Amino acid sequence: MPKSLKGSCACGSVSFTATPEDFWVCYCHCNYCKKATGAPVSTYVGINAADVVFLGTPKKFATSEGVKRAWCPRCGTPVSYESIRWPDEIHFHIGIFDHPEALVPTGHVYTKEQLPWFRIDDDLEKSREPGN
Ligand SMILES: [Zn+2]
Ligand SMILES: [Zn+2]
Repeated sequence: MPKSLKGSCACGSVSFTATPEDFWVCYCHCNYCKKATGAPVSTYVGINAADVVFLGTPKKFATSEGVKRAWCPRCGTPVSYESIRWPDEIHFHIGIFDHPEALVPTGHVYTKEQLPWFRIDDDLEKSREPGN
């Protein structure tokens, strides 16, 4: 039985429960994520969309071709990222989970756009872009 993962925005208007067979956790250093979140790096939990049930509907905006970012329409918390590159997945921001400490990243992507002062002190796999 897969364990269930719960999360919510800062005000609680948007929440979700996911019961995935599998999921992944990864840091993204790309400049789009910096703009969309205001943070120097974003950490995502990728879950099959079919395994996610929302309570409250996040607002979505197409930040670039084929990409939709979702946030709480009441408090503005960034909720997720979806792309036609991974059509079956929702990539949730890790900080909105009730227990992010249990979700351990396994890699970094887009390190070619990593901020020069942002130090990575781990042995995780690093990709300058996804796929290389
Ligand atoms: Zn909210
Ligand atoms: Zn990114």
